[in-house]
This record gives sequence, C-alpha cells and structure tokens, in this order.
Amino acid sequence: MADRLLGIYNAFLLDVDGVLVRGSVPIDGAVAAFALLGETADVLLLTNNSTKTRTQHAEQLQRLGFEVYADQVLASAYLAAEYLLDKRGAISVWPIGEEGIRAELVAVGHRLAGRPEEADAIVVGMDRGLTYAALADGLSALRSGAQFVATNEDGTFPVPDGVRPGAGAMVGALRGMGFAPDVVIGKPSRVAYRLALKRLALPPEQVLMVGDRLETDIVGAQGIGLDTALVLSGIATREDIDSTGIRPTWIADDLAALVRGDGVDSAAG
Ligand SMILES: [Mg+2]
Repeated sequence: MADRLLGIYNAFLLDVDGVLVRGSVPIDGAVAAFALLGETADVLLLTNNSTKTRTQHAEQLQRLGFEVYADQVLASAYLAAEYLLDKRGAISVWPIGEEGIRAELVAVGHRLAGRPEEADAIVVGMDRGLTYAALADGLSALRSGAQFVATNEDGTFPVPDGVRPGAGAMVGALRGMGFAPDVVIGKPSRVAYRLALKRLALPPEQVLMVGDRLETDIVGAQGIGLDTALVLSGIATREDIDSTGIRPTWIADDLAALVRGDGVDSAAG
C-alpha cells in the first residue's frame, strides 16, 4: 500500500490535531510516517488553528520531533492574509484574534488599521482574551463597511479535559449583532483547499487530504475533488462514517498505518 499510496498521489495535505498530534503529544508512529511521506511527495499541513503563525506552528511540531518547515504550514490565519492579498492587494485590516492573525497579516504586507472605522476588512479568529470592547470595535468596523473574514467557524476544539470555545464562538458573537461572514477561510471551506492546491500547483486528483474529522477535513476536500483518507486517531470513528454517510476514499487507524498500508479500506467499496 505504501508504494501504491505514494504512487497514486504526488502530494499530501495533512490535518494536524488528531493526525500528527493529540494535544501536545505526537501520535504513535506519526513522526516516522511524516518523514517517509516527505521523502517522495510534497506535504503541507492544513490547520484551522488561527492562534499561531506558520513559524510558531512549525517550531511546536519540531519540538515534538517532526521535521517540518514554516512554509509547509497552511494555518488559517496565514491563509486569511493570503486570501485578502490575492483578492484585494495589500489593505488595512482590523484583527480580532491572537498573535497568529496580527503577525501573518503584517507578514504578507497588509497594514493593521489604526481605528476600526478605517479598516477595509476584519479578520476574526479564536481569541482567548476576547473582550466586550473588542466586539464593539468589530461592530464599528462592520458598520463602516469592512469585509468580514472568518478564519474558521469551528464551534469548539478538544482539550485533554473536554472542549473549549473555538473561533466559531467569536464569529457567532458578530453574527448575533446581525453580521454574517463574507468569507470563511478554514476547513471545510473550499477557500483553504483552493489556496493549498494553488501552492502545490497540482491538479486535485494528484493530492490526498488526510484528516480525522468527517465534517471538515473530508467534506471540504471532497468538495473540490480531492481523494481523502480518514484516520481514526482523532475525532471520528468507523461508526460515524455510517451515521453521517460521509465516505472517505481510504480509512486507516492512524497515519503510520495509512503509510504502511495496514488495515486500509476503501470506504467507497
Ligand atoms: Mg483534526
């Protein structure tokens, strides 16, 4: 299977949490499997986590043993910055989020607006320090005509002792004021996958998306014609495939099994 998998696909898009790591611990065999994939194919990481820059994501994974570089990381904060640059050129942006958003906006050439009313766009992601004042600033920007860009709308994300509010909670606060996002960047939005394919410069049939969530990783990738692999090392179970009717191309216990070819099924069969 390893030969087959590597023969079929020239590039792999990997989700991070549930595929490479669980929280801050590497999943068994993932470090070696990641290295093996990288020997013969292009590998990019596609993550909705908007709190970190590409460099911060890469450094965190490097500390866990993954040989990954910042330019392999397509995180939603960076993708939001790239999307705006692609569509509108360098503009003035008001961020609601953590360091990842501010740093990536500036890194690709945007300016941070001095006042919310002056912003051409707002970019909203997860903000563990969110305040009423920050929401009021977001409202001011939107009432002044700023484009509403959401890094993602994940309602929650898993932590060792349960779940925590995700970017969807911040976006939802603005929805509650009567404003819906003009564009959502992260999975399952096609925007993230289109930007990834553009980076790879490959047609969809040469790329495999590997993820642990059916409703985001797998559905989003299927939406633009990518083959998909569900790994059972994170959120989704085999039972979820039947209950949702979402059928990935491949299923494996984890990334190591997928790369080895152990227990890989085609769910479509
Ligand atoms: Mg995941």
